[in-house]
Amino acid sequence: TSTRACPPDKDQLGAATWAFLHTTVAYFPERPNPTQRAHMLALLRALPALYPCAPCADDFGTDIAQNPPDVSGRAALSRWLCERHNAVNDKLGKARFDCATIVTDARWKDGPADGSCD
Ligand code: FAD
Repeated sequence: TSTRACPPDKDQLGAATWAFLHTTVAYFPERPNPTQRAHMLALLRALPALYPCAPCADDFGTDIAQNPPDVSGRAALSRWLCERHNAVNDKLGKARFDCATIVTDARWKDGPADGSCD
């Protein structure tokens, strides 16, 4: 039963966190109001303080200090987050992801053009 499931390990937590972040950003408004921008900034800035993997949190904090989030709108933020995820992919020796809007939207919001996720 679900009460006997194991706590997430670093990779499971990472994949779940990326899914949450990319999906949330995919649905962020193209023209966010000041409150929406402030909420998004607070969410992203909280991660280095709260994310329960210390080396992950430390490196992410360094990265976003050097590359501050662009919360001006959905497309810019989606690219920003894709690039931050690619920085982690580089560090771990994983393949880089194509950050073109159409590719990230297909992965996190619209599904592929062949309709296989509909
Ligand atoms: P994930 O990297 O979790 O990616 C999940 C899916 O996202 C992929 O299958 C792909 O479809 C899609 N994707 C991949 N790249 C992108 C991109 N650039 N843009 C959009 N979509 C993409 N692990 C460590 O071992 N050390 C660390 O220092 C570390 N730091 C992390 C920092 C943060 C903020 C987070 C959220 C996670 C971190 N992780 C770290 C976990 C790591 O990034 C992966 O989540 C974990 O290794 C599992 O990898 P995965 O192969 O399941 O794919």
